[in-house]
Amino acid sequence: MHPLRPGYRLLLDFAATGRIAPSMTYAAISIRDLCKTYAGGKRALDGVSFDVPQGTIFGLLGPNGAGKSTLINILAGLVNKTSGTASIWGFDIDAHPRNAKASIGIVNQEILFDPFFTPVETLEIQAGLYGVPKSERRSLELLRAVHLEDKANAYARTLSGGMKRRLMVAKALVHRPPVLVLDEPTAGVDIQLRQQLWAYVRELNAAGTTVVLTTHYLEEAEELCDRIAIINGGRLVANEPTTELVGRAQEKVVDVTVDRELTDTPSASCFERVEARGRVLSITYRKDVANAGEVLAAVTRDGYGIVDVSTKEPDLEDVFLSMTNSAG
Ligand code: ADP
Ligand code: MG
Repeated sequence: MHPLRPGYRLLLDFAATGRIAPSMTYAAISIRDLCKTYAGGKRALDGVSFDVPQGTIFGLLGPNGAGKSTLINILAGLVNKTSGTASIWGFDIDAHPRNAKASIGIVNQEILFDPFFTPVETLEIQAGLYGVPKSERRSLELLRAVHLEDKANAYARTLSGGMKRRLMVAKALVHRPPVLVLDEPTAGVDIQLRQQLWAYVRELNAAGTTVVLTTHYLEEAEELCDRIAIINGGRLVANEPTTELVGRAQEKVVDVTVDRELTDTPSASCFERVEARGRVLSITYRKDVANAGEVLAAVTRDGYGIVDVSTKEPDLEDVFLSMTNSAG
């Protein structure tokens, strides 16, 4: 058996009816051929399949309208799928909806909660909805974790956007779900709070929580996620470890500092593009055409000595653009 945390086992005991023992090798989330056509005919998901491995921070990336929230809302039980299957922590959302729901905490894209309750009341009510016994509740601990302890008894409507977002994270965690999903959690959150939020996400993950986040902040996904799936127009266009995904960007740029002013711009068949500034050559090449050694050799062939070399790794933006373009 994988390490279920004690709180979670307890939760299953009080939340589950018709409980089944999940298999030992399941993914945290498993989605197969998921389709959603909204009333009105909009096909938001068109046969999406992927697994979120246990213990990862998994990024679901895609432009606006890609279908990310639709997918998350199906997992949350807020949107009915048209076809396909989904399971959470081994529980099929149709066959075992209560167990599936107990296994996941979701922070929705929209900030939704009753403005007349204080943060501590908001968490207590949520705990009540999930049947968490009083002795198992930890509202103040959660508020501390999201840096809201000094607002515990303030009216929720007096909270800033960033504070509300953090309260939603705390709310998603009251039942100690093994899987936490954050749908565009950085909207309306300033940089400092975003950093705090990510630090907390990392902490949760280190303590064993599987985290799924959707974002269009590609640098963030690149920095945070072990694995990234890209969805575009309701279809999955990529799903791989972040480092491999980034490696798939074919263009690389190497900055070469030479030993004297550049009189002309060197050229070679392995260069894709060249820019010359003073003593620095910025050479773009395709990894599938040449390697850095060949590029540097071409520079020295032109009679320049090389003083310094630096390369820039492609960021996810490049990969993302090339993939969504080729898929469209
Ligand atoms: P994302 O979260 O990636 O921005 P969404 O899942 O919100 O994408 O939307 C996917 C597509 O489905 C979009 O074209 C959107 O307009 C459409 N859509 C989303 N919700 C509804 C709805 N309730 N009714 C009809 N169409 C919807
Ligand atoms: Mg969305």
